[in-house]
Amino acid sequence: MRLYFASTNEGKIRELEALAAPLGVELSSPSGGVLPWEVAEIGDSFGANALLKASVAAKRVDGWALADDSGLCVDALGGAPGVQSARWSGQGDAGNNARLLRELEGVAPERRGAVYRCALALADARGEELLVVAECRGRIALAPRGTQGFGYDPLFELPEEGFRTFGELPAEVKARLSHRSRAFAKLQPILKLLAERRR
Ligand code: IMP
Repeated sequence: MRLYFASTNEGKIRELEALAAPLGVELSSPSGGVLPWEVAEIGDSFGANALLKASVAAKRVDGWALADDSGLCVDALGGAPGVQSARWSGQGDAGNNARLLRELEGVAPERRGAVYRCALALADARGEELLVVAECRGRIALAPRGTQGFGYDPLFELPEEGFRTFGELPAEVKARLSHRSRAFAKLQPILKLLAERRR
């Protein structure tokens, strides 16, 4: 089964493709890194934005569509950057990571707790909608480490992995522990049903 994934974020596409493939679900994403339509992410929660993106996409493709809205919420920053995660610095991932380190300057490791949150929404053209959310707890490092993953991953330490960052850990570990893989696990039963229905 092919499922439209309404995202141009290569990191998300790579991770969700790997999670969906074993179910026989093949994701198709917009080509050339540009969504063919604009969706203003005006919701104040990851769930609201994911539903918005999935429902607009489902109507455009006239079928089922999947959307991911996710981000980083830092305890010492009152939950920021939250839904602003992608555009927090206005200067891409490198700018976002630099701002994060700046805002946490002088904050001790034990007070640098943070959580990644992910909302995955499935919608179809007739208005059916399904939303799942999940999270992954960690800590913000004092400096970036590693080149795996994307976004804030070089700064996101996993206590259960000896405080190595998602930047340092192999993709298989992120596929087991991340907010996205935990949300995807909740979506699996319904995706399996949809895939069977289409056979
Ligand atoms: P969205 O496209 O509005 O959902 O923004 C998601 C943003 O949150 C990304 O651009 C990253 O900055 C951050 N983010 C979400 N998930 C991850 C992840 O798994 N690793 C690193 N950064 C992430």
